[in-house]
Amino acid sequence: MPTDRQEPAHTQVNAKSAPAPSLDDPVRHMRGVGSQGSAALAKLGIVTVGDLLRHVPRRWEDRTQFRSVAELESGEFVTVCGVVLSTTTTYPRPRLPLTKVLLDDDGSALTLTWFNQLYIERLFKGFALSRKPIVVYGQAKRVGWGIEITNPEWEELGEDGDSLSANRIVPIYPATEGMRQSRLRRLTEFALEVYLPYIEEPLPPSVLLRHRLVASQTAVRNLHFPESMEMLGAARRRLIFEEFFVLQVLLALRRRAISTLASGIRLVVSLEKLREDMSEIVPFQLTTAQQRAVGEIAADVGSGRVMNRLLQGDVGSGKTMVALAAMFMAYENGYQSVMMAPTEILAQQHAIVLRRLLDPLGIAVELATGSLTIKEKRGVLERLMGGQSRIAVGTHALIQEGVEFASLGLVVIDEQHRFGVLQRQALARKGRQPHVLVMTATPIPRTLTLTLYGDLDVSILDELPPGRKPIVTHWKTGDRRNQVYSAAQRLLNEGRQVYIVCPLVDESEKLQAKSATQLSEHIATDVFPQYRVGLLHGQMKADEKDAVMVRFKTHQLDILVSTTVIEVGIDVPNASVIIIEDADRFGLAQLHQLRGRVGRGSHASFCVLIADPKSADGRARMEIMTQTNDGFRIAEEDLKLRGPGEFCGTRQSGIPELYIADILRDFDILTETRETAFELVESDPSLRDAAHQPLRRALHRYKSVFELMSVS
Ligand code: ADP
Ligand code: MG
Repeated sequence: MPTDRQEPAHTQVNAKSAPAPSLDDPVRHMRGVGSQGSAALAKLGIVTVGDLLRHVPRRWEDRTQFRSVAELESGEFVTVCGVVLSTTTTYPRPRLPLTKVLLDDDGSALTLTWFNQLYIERLFKGFALSRKPIVVYGQAKRVGWGIEITNPEWEELGEDGDSLSANRIVPIYPATEGMRQSRLRRLTEFALEVYLPYIEEPLPPSVLLRHRLVASQTAVRNLHFPESMEMLGAARRRLIFEEFFVLQVLLALRRRAISTLASGIRLVVSLEKLREDMSEIVPFQLTTAQQRAVGEIAADVGSGRVMNRLLQGDVGSGKTMVALAAMFMAYENGYQSVMMAPTEILAQQHAIVLRRLLDPLGIAVELATGSLTIKEKRGVLERLMGGQSRIAVGTHALIQEGVEFASLGLVVIDEQHRFGVLQRQALARKGRQPHVLVMTATPIPRTLTLTLYGDLDVSILDELPPGRKPIVTHWKTGDRRNQVYSAAQRLLNEGRQVYIVCPLVDESEKLQAKSATQLSEHIATDVFPQYRVGLLHGQMKADEKDAVMVRFKTHQLDILVSTTVIEVGIDVPNASVIIIEDADRFGLAQLHQLRGRVGRGSHASFCVLIADPKSADGRARMEIMTQTNDGFRIAEEDLKLRGPGEFCGTRQSGIPELYIADILRDFDILTETRETAFELVESDPSLRDAAHQPLRRALHRYKSVFELMSVS
């Protein structure tokens, strides 16, 4: 960078101390922003110049030629330019003003209508006087003889000199009060003028060539002020590519760091013997899918490298047995293993299952949860530290509270979506690089697996244990509730058990508990007085919850009224009905998890959704649930309805926040980047090549955004 360059005109700082322009410069130092402007920009998430340049237009309008009103078709989205002829406001209903504006476009008139926006009348009266051209955008609708647009977006077409808003393809940004389109355009244009030369090209020339990508600076400029629609397309593709590519390079580096640098504990496993042992431990035959997963795990832990495997399987597919096999491998080699569950109930359930199976072999299973007494905890800690105990189950209390292991060989994490990526790393740092098996019952769409878990190997349980009958799902409106209850009664009479999930009250855990309590009282006294009704909610103490669960499991209760605390992993094969109240208030993934509480035994099972959805979205969810039991399909639909950001709560889930790329929409580009990124890391693992230096710098910039591991 030249040192004798001139002080950039945009800053207010003194020439001698001015550092080189950087995209990290605050926008508030830019000419014409001011404190009000910077406050408005901050509302849009724009703090630095880089943020401004990453503020992607919502859409672009081709204002090189406007559509003429005479030729508009009903239903089209159009941009029209004209001058205001007249404005009138009427009251079709009391207190509901309807403002109509007549826009003249070379002798044809277009009617614009707004409800309840009195200020429009005032503004447009002014435009009628000044005869300033107005640009409007919206959906044209034929009404009688004329054409109307209701609630159009609109903009004054600036003075003759405003070359940014007329006679070109114009960006339409997400804007906000105090920061209108025209001002955003001017600021962006200005930022481009000053900063564009300082934007580096992070992609190596070979990658640009191979994927036919336009250069970085060209892309950024055309994203905002495209020369043509073709250039806009090329610019967007290039920027999406870059964002995914950098992410994939980070994942590739991380994966390499984990799998090659860290030599893992080598566990000697004879599949033959393991199969014999497992058939003694487990009362049934493993499914083909389970066997395949066990084989993959055995290969990993025997390779001398650290295993990092994701075991994905729908609810009820039998992940626990696969985990057991893995823990048994560690045990046989004299190593300890620990299984982490997201809740106390689940940890307890795992402990019960493992103890039942391992007790006969004289293998002790420790249970470490937050509700142990100090004395009990000390006992557990001592046995783990001394190595007397080799299998432990726990909640994350287990990793957080300074537990030391004598020889930790394997960590199993159940129900991964409750654990963040960072926790996963914290855990892997325990001990000397133990093998890690992550299990999830939230089927993660393939699309997300790549971005989220690009550093993990994946095993999939795509088969349910034999004898399962598919769960039949019904959607009933609230007025049919009694019918639902009498159907449930028939099954109760046959000796089955029933879950009733109470409505989601989002204000607080307390209210949630209260509504659950009320519902259970109602059920116990008014609906099913002849049956034993239990209650489970998040405000109960761990041992109370535990006691209720045990009573339900051992069939001392017929009906369990519960909040979503039963969502994850609870296993009661005799329960064959789940009734979910206000089902439309739950997300798809959660409904699917809840439904997975039934259909775990050999009985025909039912899930009844009681819902009167108010939104199209809610109806769509109910319909998808009645149509399919396939968790992967549901996950894809969920992603479509909610968008990846919300899929599991962006932050904890570790889904990086992307500014321009969209995992679903741009899936093709994602796949394209993946291979190239992994190849690049393979050929230059520490990014020493001179051609890779800008990329290296870009990784550091992106890294904080992606919260991924550092590049050494
Ligand atoms: P999830 O994958 O949801 O964690 P679980 O491991 O809890 O599933 O298993 C669900 C139920 O299926 C349990 O009751 C378990 O004992 C049973 N199960 C697991 N594997 C098999 C198998 N191969 N054959 C029969 N039943 C099985
Ligand atoms: Mg499970």
